[in-house]
This record gives sequence, C-alpha cells and structure tokens, in this order.
Amino acid sequence: MTSSVSGRLFVGGEWLAPRDDFADLNPAKLDEVVGTFPHATPEEVASAVSSARDAFPGWRRTSRILRAECFDRLAQLIKRDTDALATLMARECGKNVTECRAEVVEGLHMVQWVFGSGRTGVYGEVVASEIAEKDAFTRRKPWGVVAVVTPWNFPFAVPLWMLGPSLLEGNTCVFKPSEETPGIAQRLVELFAEAGFPAGTVNLVQGSGAVGEALVKSPSVNVVCFTGSYAVGRRIQELSAALPDRIVAAEMGGKNAVIVCDDARFDLAVNAGILSAFKTTGQRCVSASRIIVHESLMGRYAKAFVDTAKRLRFGDPLDPKNFAGPLVNRKGVEKVLSYNALAKSEGVEVLLAPDQPANGNGCFLPPFVYRTDAKPNLRVTHEEVFGPHVALIPFKTDEDAARIYNDTEYGLSMAVITESYRRMRFFRDECEYGMGYVNLPSIGAEVHLPFGGVKKSGNGHPSAAALIEAVTHKTAWTVNHG
Ligand code: NAD
Repeated sequence: MTSSVSGRLFVGGEWLAPRDDFADLNPAKLDEVVGTFPHATPEEVASAVSSARDAFPGWRRTSRILRAECFDRLAQLIKRDTDALATLMARECGKNVTECRAEVVEGLHMVQWVFGSGRTGVYGEVVASEIAEKDAFTRRKPWGVVAVVTPWNFPFAVPLWMLGPSLLEGNTCVFKPSEETPGIAQRLVELFAEAGFPAGTVNLVQGSGAVGEALVKSPSVNVVCFTGSYAVGRRIQELSAALPDRIVAAEMGGKNAVIVCDDARFDLAVNAGILSAFKTTGQRCVSASRIIVHESLMGRYAKAFVDTAKRLRFGDPLDPKNFAGPLVNRKGVEKVLSYNALAKSEGVEVLLAPDQPANGNGCFLPPFVYRTDAKPNLRVTHEEVFGPHVALIPFKTDEDAARIYNDTEYGLSMAVITESYRRMRFFRDECEYGMGYVNLPSIGAEVHLPFGGVKKSGNGHPSAAALIEAVTHKTAWTVNHG
C-alpha cells in the first residue's frame, strides 16, 4: 500500500490546513493517487507574497555566512532522505527512479554550492576612484521578493537552482511548483522548514498556471525566476513588462540536436543519439529531437538507431532496470501523438511509429523516428515536441550541419560526435547553444557550470552564479576619508 500526500500551502512559516482541490496521479498507473493538493486562492497568493515581504528585512540583515549555513543543514536532510525523495518523484512524474536519485543528488550539489559560496563568494569589491581622498566600493544587494516558478520535469533540482542563489543573497521567496509535481515540492519545503530557514523566507503556493499568473502579477514581487516552456516564459515577460522594475530570469525550451560527423565512432554515435532522444522519455529541456547525420553514414546509422530504439524498455519508473517511464500525463501523450501525425502529414519518411499507446492504464508511448531532408518550413523539425519523437536529418558538409542545427528559434543544447579537434572547434564557434557536448549525449548538468540557452531558450542567466546577477543589484558606495 503506497502512501498519499495531504497537500498544504506554507505561508509565513505556517502549514495551512490540507485541501483536496486537485489530485496528483501517478502517470504510470493513472488509478494511483499520489496526493491531493490545494489550488491557492488569489488571497493565499497575496498572503504568501506579503509574508515573504515581511520576512525580507530580517533575512537581509542576517549575515551571508549564517544564511549559507542553513543550506548546510538542508544538505544533511537531503542526504538523509535521498531514497524517499527519489521514490516520491518517480511515482509523481514517471521518471525512472535511478534518474530521480541522480536528480536529488544534483539538488544536493546545488545546496552544497550555495553553502560553499557563503564563505567564498564575492559580493562586493574595492574599486578605483578618480579622487585620491575617496574610497570606492561596490556591493550587491538583494532585490526583495523572488517568485520561483518551476516545471515538472526536474521538480527537485530546478527549484533548488533558483531558490538557492536567491536565498543566499538575502531575498525571500514564494515558490510555485508545477501542478504535476506538488508532492516533491511540498517535501522540499518541509526540508527547508526543518533546516531552520526563518518563517516567511520560503513560502509555498500550489496549483495551476493561474496560481503562477496571480503570483507573477503581484507588484510586490521584485524578481521572477522561471523555468518552463517558451509560451509561459513569454507570457510572464509580457505581464512583467507592465512593472517598470521587474526582473525576469527565464530558462525555457529547446529544439536540440546531435551532429554525427563522418569520422564518428559509430557505436558511440548511436548510443549518444539514443540517450539524447529517449532518456526521460524525451522530456528533458536538453533532449534531442533532431539527429543530424553525415549523409555517408545515414543508411547504417538509421538502421542501428531504429533497431536500438525498438529494444528500449519503457515501464514502471520504480523498476531501475527499465530504460525510461511514461510521459507525464495524458496531455503529454496527446501532444506527442499530434506531432507524430503532423510529421506524417508533412511528408517525412517514417522509420518507427507506435501503433497506439502501449498501456491504457498509464501514459506510455513508444518512440517515433523519422527521416527527412532539412527543410525550412517543416514544423516538426522546428518546434519543441517534448517526448520520444526524433528526426534523422542528413548533411553533406560541416557548414550544412551547423546551418541545419541553427535553423530553429531555440538555442539550448547540442552534441557533436567527432574525432576531430578542428571540427569540434568549428561547431563550438558556429552553433548557437548554451551547453555543448562532444562525444557525449546532449543531456547532463553540473551545478558549477552554466546551464541555460539563447534565443527562445533563455534570457541570459544560465547558471547559479549568473542568477546571482538577476536576484541582486550592484550598488556603488564612495567614502570621503580626506
Ligand atoms: P510549463 O511552461 O507548462 O509550466 C512551468 C510552470 O509555469 C508551472 O509551474 C506552471 O504551472 C506555470 N505556469 C503556467 N502558466 C503560467 C502563467 N500564465 N503564469 C505563471 N506561471 C504559469 O512547463 P512544463 O510543462 O512544466 O515543463 C516543460 C517545459 O520546461 C519544456 O518546455 C522544457 O524545455 C522546459 N524546461 C526548461 C529547462 C531549462 O533549464 N531551460 C529545464 C526544464 C524544463
């Protein structure tokens, strides 16, 4: 018998009474309720924002090192609960438990990074002045209240990438997780409370996009740290444009690719393509939905890729032997099926197609693989699909490959499979991306490296260190000592 979470909001250091406004289902078994949760009302959102506002002066005045030490306690609690967190995440979003465990560890690494930055990070500098009698300094100051709005597919690590730097710098937060993963979000906030973060520094509101929108519309929110789709990021930017001093840091979608050169190690190229396309059932922001293959290899590559894709086991996320799990919900299945149908109507050559979803009780969907030449107007090779749906596209020259790669409105991640350092440099310099991988899949993150994209994929805060720029403002302080 698996337990069910009683969902509550966390406002001003208090857990509100549980409510069951919506049910959170296990996408691998839609008859299993993982928990029931409240949709925050507009009044509850306003109350969470004002609690964060009230807690701000006290937290801002707490020394940066003491703020960072709360993260040391949080790290101990995450270590204690790693397995339970991974299991809950797997039940809630359908990601394989091995990946969920790795994600909890990534979240832990971010917490450790924040703790370490408390003593080592630089938040002010002594700078030169034109006047001999003057000493000049800069100092970073927190903006105030940060809204942290997050997606379902990395429901533990992504919130920590944004909560961590925001809180370290003295901001207070209102966290609005995805309505697909409210349980793991609640668990994370319970750990923040247990670690001793003062009342009001971290507040939790749950519910649909409307709850996120109410939060973003609040003029008392200084900064929105958003990770999710381009459409929602764009909406948040539009809403924020009405507020003159609003900062938005947005990490959004991708139309990523693996480029397989004619000198590639063949097995490595197939493996990198498969992992990029189908790990997490193709539902990572960095998943590749295009494999751009040198024309001399295409026939052999397509055969090996399809043969491998057919053998992948999509099944129970709690069984670590499975390669991947279901899509996150029925809507996700329908979206991918609609893109599979669109691909056919756009005249591509289908190499592997699911007849129908494999399991009526879960959101399982086998891979869809097709081959097409690069064409500027083909929607399926330009739009984010977010599922096990991938195009194999041939190229003749490296210049063609870079042009095909760049011909989307996104610029998040890319991988190049080559033995040539010269080629690696060419793609590194010519392609538009945030994360580049050589002889690796297009997926993977390390917390001390940049993670974020260009164009429709992000607006330039691609790391915890860069996010500090968004959640603080730099002030000048000049002192006459003459
Ligand atoms: P989503 O954009 O649908 O939702 C993200 C969050 O925004 C959720 O909490 C949602 O409730 C909220 N939201 C929805 N409408 C809103 C509105 N009008 N105002 C305020 N908030 C609103 O994304 P998703 O389906 O949860 O996640 C998948 C997307 O996230 C993909 O596009 C993926 O590429 C992207 N993603 C990007 C990164 C990155 O680092 N670039 C990482 C993970 C996921």
